[in-house]
Amino acid sequence: MSENNLLSSIFRKEVLAMSAYKVADATGLIKLDAMENPYSWPEGIKRDWLETLKDCPLNRYPDPEAKQLTATIKRLNQIPEQFDVLLGNGSDEIIQILLMALPANASVLAPDPGFVMYKQLSLCLGLTYHGIPLLAGSFDLDLPAMLEAIEQHQPSVIFLAYPNNPTGNLFSEASIREIIKAAKGLVIIDEAYAPFADASFIDSLGQYDNLLVMRTVSKLGLAGLRLGYIAGKPDIIEQLHKIRLPYNINSLTQISADFALSNKALFDQQTQNICAERSIVFNRLNALNGITAYPSSANFILFKTPENRANEIFASIKQQGVLIKNLSAQGGLLADCLRVTVGKPEENAAFLAALTRSLVTP
Ligand SMILES: *Cc1c(COP(=O)(O)O)cnc(C)c1O
Repeated sequence: MSENNLLSSIFRKEVLAMSAYKVADATGLIKLDAMENPYSWPEGIKRDWLETLKDCPLNRYPDPEAKQLTATIKRLNQIPEQFDVLLGNGSDEIIQILLMALPANASVLAPDPGFVMYKQLSLCLGLTYHGIPLLAGSFDLDLPAMLEAIEQHQPSVIFLAYPNNPTGNLFSEASIREIIKAAKGLVIIDEAYAPFADASFIDSLGQYDNLLVMRTVSKLGLAGLRLGYIAGKPDIIEQLHKIRLPYNINSLTQISADFALSNKALFDQQTQNICAERSIVFNRLNALNGITAYPSSANFILFKTPENRANEIFASIKQQGVLIKNLSAQGGLLADCLRVTVGKPEENAAFLAALTRSLVTP
């Protein structure tokens, strides 16, 4: 049996057709491609953190329910007592758990452009995925198109990233409420960028039976820990717990996240710095000839380059030592678009200088 026959006789066709999620190598580059918080911790806090890890019993399995961390997360996010929370190894894992719980013929719906894992994981699990185009210009939800797609496809799950990645905007709250009301399935409000946005649906959990709110500590400044969470009605969360692997949150993550989140003031300060830099970068981008930056409620900015120049500009910026994200190959509303994560002031200055030089026609 040839190797190809072996693969196709074993693996699902969806898997064979997929390509792995590729992460660019940032060695030696200023890293502004992945929405990470650029700041580290003061020495004193690092010392206290290591102290909390010292007696962690690595010979034992972690607490399968991560009780202490779950309580901390509920408290800090002001999640009302009557809702339950499921933790995931990143919110990526929660998306996977949710989708694994659906029947084989289920469909999943999200706006397009949107977060790539919704589609990637749906297709990987053999589900039907529908991406509904956002409005050109505003990147807001096309409410009539969304409602029609809901009616037509009866999706089991709808994902709405709030703010949206990669566009950075908050969708209209009224449109989201219409969608939650029209949906017969679950609506997941993905608040990965909540620390940078002045809006949330956590307070609305009690108003809708089919609403869940998902968050992560990654963009806040703890991407290395891999921790996400989702809050919703206990009867829904209970089903997800059945699919979750017993020890999905390791001991080091449980202890470290609980410690880090107890230093809320530190993250609040870092978040404020990032938001202040966001408006500086936004204004400087829009002052550049040929560049259109889109308003962002997240820690990154999407911007459009002159027609058919995105690849060349991306490469030139990288050549000058700064890694951002090239989205232009996705086409559609993202044609000619690049995305930059807001970094430290000196990193943003290096990015803007590199972009400015790259715009000068060779
Ligand atoms: C980054 C991101 C996530 C994934 O976060 P992790 O917790 O690191 O897995 C989820 N949703 C959106 C919209 C994101 O941008």
